[in-house]
Amino acid sequence: MAETTNVPSENKTLNCSNCGAPIGYVEGESVLTCEHCGSTTMLAGFDQIVTIQSHSIMRPRLDENSAVKTARAWLSEGRLKPSGLGDAADLRSVSGRVLPYWIVKSFASTSWRGMNRKTRTVGSGQQKRTEEYWEPTSGRFSENYTWPVYARENEAEYWGLKFLEPGQKCLFPDWRRFLFTFGMGSKTSPNANLLEGRVPFSLDGITDSGLKIVNGQIVQARAEETARARIVQSHDAKAAGKATRITDCDTTVTVQGTELVYLPMWEIVYGYGGRDYRVLVNAASGAVVAAEYPVGRTAKIVNFDLLFGILGGLLAAAGFGTGHHGVGWAGVALVAVAVAYTIISLVSGKK
Ligand SMILES: [Zn+2]
Repeated sequence: MAETTNVPSENKTLNCSNCGAPIGYVEGESVLTCEHCGSTTMLAGFDQIVTIQSHSIMRPRLDENSAVKTARAWLSEGRLKPSGLGDAADLRSVSGRVLPYWIVKSFASTSWRGMNRKTRTVGSGQQKRTEEYWEPTSGRFSENYTWPVYARENEAEYWGLKFLEPGQKCLFPDWRRFLFTFGMGSKTSPNANLLEGRVPFSLDGITDSGLKIVNGQIVQARAEETARARIVQSHDAKAAGKATRITDCDTTVTVQGTELVYLPMWEIVYGYGGRDYRVLVNAASGAVVAAEYPVGRTAKIVNFDLLFGILGGLLAAAGFGTGHHGVGWAGVALVAVAVAYTIISLVSGKK
């Protein structure tokens, strides 16, 4: 899916239907924004040019410097990150883009059936045993969405774009080779209202900001199809968690309206400890949309010590308490491992 082809694309020009200025575009792009007057034209197939009626923009509030500041502030927070990461992050590059999204306003309702595995105790006395049985279960759930569909073919051409989708993983901690992560430090995108705060499209605040407008490639009908399919997938996944086995899952998606919304984003690349990491900042809301970050030494020590310390402590207490001295000493050994790990980590100087 994330294929990038190097087939040379043909540069084309079209005159803006509103002001007449030439709009340059590359073959394959079909949602074009005039850099002079800001009107947007949709090429819906050969000879069919449509001026898009409802198209809007999230007004950028963060310039390049504020975006970097926002990223640094975010990197300074949280107990998993190395201390001082916000200041120590070595700024590699900043790029600003105004990206076209089809926001598909929709309502999705799911009804599902399934079976839960249960156990019960039967018999009594010597005949007492645990028996497994299956119990039928069913339910419904529904949700409203402003589902984002990136209006270009290749979602992978810029980093982080798909992470706006509700339920997508959007935080990526880098634990390196450390094993005891307990899945900590990652997060999924919330189902936020992506139509809130939009204003009619204009180039105010875009020209001279360093933000570059990106033309769309896919048309509205296809975006709606994509949104439907993605919502069904996400409801299937949600239903799967509701019973041991799902036998039937049916989702109805009603599309209530679709708008083309331009979202300004700053992508910041920073280096730390010999690796590069990325942060995507929403230039309109000021929120960190997605990010990669290294996990610090302290967080690893805490995880390691909690695991080995608690396990060791329990074993030692149980072992010595019941006269099983071998088990007790194994517990003591585990606690010693935790202490040794702490000391080695602290003196090795790696952060
Ligand atoms: Zn124009």
